[in-house]
Amino acid sequence: MSICKQIEAIQDTIRRTALACGRDPDSIELIAVSKKQSLEKINAAYGCGQRVFGENYLQEARDKISGCPADIRWHFIGHLQSNKAASAVELFDVIQTVDRAKVVRKIQYHAERIGKIQKILVQINVGREKQKSGIFPENAEDFLKSIQKEPNILVLGLMTMPPWTDSPEESRPYFRQLREIAEILTKKGLFADPDHVALSMGMSGDYIVAIEEGATMVRVGTAIFGARL
Ligand SMILES: *Cc1c(COP(=O)(O)O)cnc(C)c1O
Repeated sequence: MSICKQIEAIQDTIRRTALACGRDPDSIELIAVSKKQSLEKINAAYGCGQRVFGENYLQEARDKISGCPADIRWHFIGHLQSNKAASAVELFDVIQTVDRAKVVRKIQYHAERIGKIQKILVQINVGREKQKSGIFPENAEDFLKSIQKEPNILVLGLMTMPPWTDSPEESRPYFRQLREIAEILTKKGLFADPDHVALSMGMSGDYIVAIEEGATMVRVGTAIFGARL
């Protein structure tokens, strides 16, 4: 199938899934994950209306972004090292993977320097996996409180990557947990807009389950573009 057909099919699945569980389909944003995909493929997706893309690697992203239309909104979804925060702030509309105080300080510093309000998500390690990024659920409240003090950072919501599985139902409890954490933190006033708290969860294999559990951003790569280089 062409990239346009794939995007249409996924948008259609997003709509149907949302309606089936009583959600507004327009509250769910499809993020096309274009890491290790060619400029041609990104431009093909752009040509059929896709405007939000996710990238994992800063150098790769910099090269691509300079060759892409300016009205694309880029989300950073890779692991962020604090010494790369300047590039991330310069290039990305939303940084989805904030999980350390040092990264917060660097983002604040560089955002202030260029006069930007940087939108971010806080990454939660719902599966408590040792090798995975993200803060543990019990530390989320203190972490968000510390970010609230930063004038150039807006926390839109939370992001997670549950433990890897090839059976989407196994991800459901983790997605649900992320939503429940977000509900608690929303009541405590820790997000920029309490009426629109972002939940970034779900990838090619499990985005349907993620939407059923409340995802507002789904990050889909291979189901749109095919296998990565
Ligand atoms: C690569 C990646 C995705 C997309 O994965 P697919 O299985 O290709 O849809 C989503 N989220 C993150 C954080 C990723 O690194």
